[in-house]
Amino acid sequence: MIKQLTIIGVGLIGGSLARALKRAGAVGEVVGAGRDAEHLQRALALGVIDRAEANLAAAVQGADVVVVATPVGAAEDVFRAIAPALPTDALLTDVGSTKDSVVAAARAAFGELPKNFVPGHPIAGTEKSGVEASFAELFDGRRVILTPTENSDPAAVAGVREMWQQAGAEVVETSVAHHDEVLAATSHLPHLLAFSLVDTLAKLDDKQEIFEYAAGGFRDFTRIASSDPQMWHDICVHNEPALLKMLERFEADLDKLRQAIADNDSDYLLQVFTRAKAARDQFCDDA
Ligand code: NAP
Repeated sequence: MIKQLTIIGVGLIGGSLARALKRAGAVGEVVGAGRDAEHLQRALALGVIDRAEANLAAAVQGADVVVVATPVGAAEDVFRAIAPALPTDALLTDVGSTKDSVVAAARAAFGELPKNFVPGHPIAGTEKSGVEASFAELFDGRRVILTPTENSDPAAVAGVREMWQQAGAEVVETSVAHHDEVLAATSHLPHLLAFSLVDTLAKLDDKQEIFEYAAGGFRDFTRIASSDPQMWHDICVHNEPALLKMLERFEADLDKLRQAIADNDSDYLLQVFTRAKAARDQFCDDA
């Protein structure tokens, strides 16, 4: 049982975690903090948080667990703001989609990585943002990746693991570097491609007609381009090495496809499409 949970950034992910822990009866008071008083009032009105604090240092006072759920670009400022007031025995975790940058932010803000700091990332979300989009079931049966640092106390790791299990998630652990490489491939690259494709089409003269004729395939492929631009800006900038590596591989493969179309190379096209279909069918059967 968490007596006081402080969530900094009560949006889709922070709000959903608060709702899930309340549903499980696993939390006493939820304190919410963020930049915009109106957003916090909405979170209060929705019953997602029990108390709103505009001041981050005040928000973490008395907390058993502090969860940073802002865009990753804000992590260092948030850590600096809470560092003087964070209770020594409070667990500190985050939900950011990039882990190396968040660990670097914690190191910069705290001087050395706190023993109670356990970075995390729920592999669950939607293209919607804000507390209104949050829901208690978001993490049910979904994975949460923890990337403990060399300083993370095993008891702190166990505490953060327990919190996510109470929220309905399955918890796995991996290294920071492995997390960032895998997520660059499975999440960051696809988001970049979706944003890029929609932007290319939106710049065409006949875009109205193109979007009017768009069918299910276009909607399926581009749903994630409705995600929050600031959040995805931060993710791309803060996972630069891994994302650039994946992007280069993708560009090379795309170039081969372009050449195959120009050369009328049916064998190559069919090979790629057949391989991709088999891989996706298998992945979806296994998932
Ligand atoms: P969101 O719905 O936009 O929520 C972000 C929250 O952070 C908002 O409540 C915002 O409130 C607050 N915030 C923004 N900048 C801040 C700052 N400088 N200081 C304090 N609070 C700040 O975004 P989200 O989807 O929940 O994403 C939050 C984090 O989860 C991100 O790091 C993201 O990488 C990660 N994540 C997202 C997903 C997903 O699918 N959405 C999945 C897994 C992980 P104010 O504007 O009122 O300050």
